[in-house]
Amino acid sequence: MSEPTIFKRIIDGEIPAEIVYEDEQCLAFRDVNPQAPVHILVIPRKEIPSLAETDDEDQMLLGHLMIVIRRLAEEMGLKNGFRVVANSGVDGGQTVNHLHFHLLGQRNLDWPPG
Ligand code: AMP
Repeated sequence: MSEPTIFKRIIDGEIPAEIVYEDEQCLAFRDVNPQAPVHILVIPRKEIPSLAETDDEDQMLLGHLMIVIRRLAEEMGLKNGFRVVANSGVDGGQTVNHLHFHLLGQRNLDWPPG
């Protein structure tokens, strides 16, 4: 068995995180190295390594994660907009191999990314 990812360890309560929302399907917590005043990671409890490794059967889960992100953006007062990012794989710059969506907001974000 491979080592559990840092996010799996957060799900299991083995390491602390500043959790802002959780339910039976997912967890949302503040990124330890925030790139914007609001920087939250939304992750499924299900161990899926990346967006590339989701299945058609994950449709409901993926939809749920998007609804959670929209609610969090509302709760965080991101009225001017926000960005949702899912880095996937090496070229995508993914560093933690547990599916996660970054919710970034409360500043004007540049485009394109580096
Ligand atoms: P990515 O590069 O898309 O895989 O994003 C991984 C994110 O996880 C980075 O933004 C990290 O700052 C963040 N991160 C890593 N470890 C932790 C942790 N223990 N708690 C919260 N965020 C973390």
